[in-house]
Amino acid sequence: MDYTRLGFKAGLEIHQQLDTGKLFCGCPGYLRQDVGDVQVMRKLHAIAGETGEVDAAVRHEAGLEKSFVYEGYRDSTCLIELDEEPPHLISQEALDEALRVALLLNCEVYQHTQIMRKLVIDGSNTSGFQRTVLLARNGWVETSFGKVPIDTLCLEEDSARLVSEKSGKEVVYRLDRLGIPLVEIATAPTLVNPAQVRETALKLGEIVRACRVKRGIGTIRQDVNMSSTGHPRVEIKGFQDMGMLEGTIQMELIRQQHESDKQSQVRQALPDGTTKFLRPMPGKARMYPETDLPLLFISLEHINRIKKTLPRLQQDITQDLLKQGLSSELVGLVLDGFVPLYTALVKRHVVSPVLIAKMITLWTREVGTKAGKTFDELTSVCTEEVYDMILERVASGKLGEGQVKGVLSAFISGKSLEDALQVEQVDDNRLEQDLRAIVAEKPGLRANAYMGLVLAKLGSGVDKRKAMELLQKIVST
Ligand SMILES: [Zn+2]
Repeated sequence: MDYTRLGFKAGLEIHQQLDTGKLFCGCPGYLRQDVGDVQVMRKLHAIAGETGEVDAAVRHEAGLEKSFVYEGYRDSTCLIELDEEPPHLISQEALDEALRVALLLNCEVYQHTQIMRKLVIDGSNTSGFQRTVLLARNGWVETSFGKVPIDTLCLEEDSARLVSEKSGKEVVYRLDRLGIPLVEIATAPTLVNPAQVRETALKLGEIVRACRVKRGIGTIRQDVNMSSTGHPRVEIKGFQDMGMLEGTIQMELIRQQHESDKQSQVRQALPDGTTKFLRPMPGKARMYPETDLPLLFISLEHINRIKKTLPRLQQDITQDLLKQGLSSELVGLVLDGFVPLYTALVKRHVVSPVLIAKMITLWTREVGTKAGKTFDELTSVCTEEVYDMILERVASGKLGEGQVKGVLSAFISGKSLEDALQVEQVDDNRLEQDLRAIVAEKPGLRANAYMGLVLAKLGSGVDKRKAMELLQKIVST
């Protein structure tokens, strides 16, 4: 496809949930699967805005005469999610985290800004609007084809989660997600082919994941704004899978070329790479000030304080880990959520970083799987203190590196850490005598070949690394 000839232009919008409490109330940001224990039903009416005109998208939705059911939770949602109480002041921890993202994206932060209400017409906000605040602008992200400008960065509240929709008449939403802070990053519409769109999305994803953000399906959402010669802007929402970005854009371009009524619209990305019509593009008069909340001031001192607490980016951490001797496979495992633990342990213990990386990722997972433990069970059992105690033994020479996995296994299978650490300290001389006896019984084999015999005679608690070292010495003499 010749994207230049088609006049293809695209911009990206990324929405990422922060892993903090809610934005305008004190509720925790728990995402839940269980059915709510409070139900409220509402209907939506189209009302003219301040300009006296009814928004085209609003008229479209209200004409459908839907009723909306909201499920809440007594213990993790409150009256603010139900729009029965005014919002509290903006959450400082969410604001700080959003500022970190803004600074990592080289944005200028606004020192004075206004929290706004953005009209939302599908019922996914109980108030009929979404609160959003423009925090920063004019940033950039580095890519292989140059810097991609970031136009704006907003902090906003997530909407309620759609649970079911009965024949388009009754729509059920859950309130657990409503009010969870989202960072919205919008690039300039300067991307000129689908591969650039994909690379930029991946890069932005990598940068936001350096911050305190939620992980997993649905916690990051990408929208693509695209246009081509003779076709006005179309917004495609709801990409579930980054692998689908390029293909969906290509199919949308083909659709645009063949459309007779070329209108600006919002479409939804479908799993098969096609898109479906959602609604007309909303008008511009959709934002007005949130009068329940004061102007937001962000002082220079505040910004400077945040600058001192910026997380490091993945590419820099990767370089460090490779320098410390980790294989690229191990680097990948550590980057998958273990960086803080790994860094803390490497700082405190004079032992090989490779041993630390293997212990907290590979070995813990391996013995955990054997013992039938889930990831959550493992992380609650294998705490930093547990690793500290094991590494102290290794550093003081009381535990061989080859014995660490055995200790972990005993501990994860239910022994107390003290008991698990009581492994026999075979002294090197005695081990060497035992090994020489084994080699003498069956001479002429290579070192590896004796390991089976060694394990059979001396038991699996033997320090395998030490035994292999000694075997190599014995065999070569
Ligand atoms: Zn609440």
